[in-house]
Amino acid sequence: MDMIDPFGRTISYLRVSVTDRCDFRCTYCMAEDMTFLPKRDLLSLEELDRLCTVFIDKGVKKLRLTGGEPLVRKNVMHLIRELSRHLESGALEELTLTTNGSQLSRFADELAACGVKRINVSLDTLDADKFHTITRWGRLDKVMAGIDAAQSAGIKVKINAVALKDFNDAEIPEMLRWAHGRGMDLTLIETMPMGEIDADRTDQYLPLSLMRARLEDRFTLSDIPYKTGGPARYVEVAETGGRLGFITPMTHNFCESCNRVRLTCTGTLYMCLGQEDAADLRAPLRASEGNALVAQAIDEAIGRKPKGHDFVIDRRTSRPSVSRHMSVTGG
Ligand code: SAM
Repeated sequence: MDMIDPFGRTISYLRVSVTDRCDFRCTYCMAEDMTFLPKRDLLSLEELDRLCTVFIDKGVKKLRLTGGEPLVRKNVMHLIRELSRHLESGALEELTLTTNGSQLSRFADELAACGVKRINVSLDTLDADKFHTITRWGRLDKVMAGIDAAQSAGIKVKINAVALKDFNDAEIPEMLRWAHGRGMDLTLIETMPMGEIDADRTDQYLPLSLMRARLEDRFTLSDIPYKTGGPARYVEVAETGGRLGFITPMTHNFCESCNRVRLTCTGTLYMCLGQEDAADLRAPLRASEGNALVAQAIDEAIGRKPKGHDFVIDRRTSRPSVSRHMSVTGG
């Protein structure tokens, strides 16, 4: 039953982008005037549930909803409530999401009631003006209220920050103290060359090897074997007692331990975040009421999961390595 790819990796983690739309326009993620998918191309919530259920039947243990912004998909709580039956049955070990936090004040209690125990909140700065600049449309106070609501509801929050040269690099020590002071892990992410944006990615790219060396001037970082099922490698920070993660697709890829595939809101399955190859699951899903066709399409897709990505950011290659934006496949 298990999904095992040609390199012997067991696929147990599905990330689902439930919408490509977002209420922010982070400059490194999207262009300001994005064209989004026509609503008629989207899978219905029932179809998303059905597809997720097929994956769970095939051995997925961890499911992460992402986007776009997952919490702006209309009636997304209906989907989450439905999916929580797999937590109750024990088939699924974790149901979680990655969010920009803007809608958490509204949804935190219900998420907790659905068995969501941990979430990732993306936050790149603690400065309200800089926050507005980087997100183009976002308000920091709303996100802060969302984080408060999640913590009050008993949900464990991890903060994800994309490390951006000359934007937030000087602020990372402060963010680290703030996150750890509130009992939250902080994970730093390298920018990936995905989709056309209005800026030059070479100007934004900050290798985390450099960031780590800079942090080590101020903090004592010790590598620890802590794992959450994702690609981050963690250190413990002696001064704060908290954990700091590094997601380094550029300086050190983590493909050898890749256990995940990514489903978009149109039913396209990407076997690798950094490659173009994909499989359409919408047609086999809609072709019959049973799930045999879609299960077969999933097996074929897993059978061609590539060894890894080959992202490059340098001045000679101005085009992104992957043409789709991160908002299509989710982070
Ligand atoms: N809207 C949700 C959020 O903000 O977390 C979920 C989707 S968002 C695309 C997921 C994550 O991808 C965010 O942490 C975002 O900062 C990150 N991201 C977007 N574009 C990226 C890029 N080109 N390189 C690295 N991370 C990126």
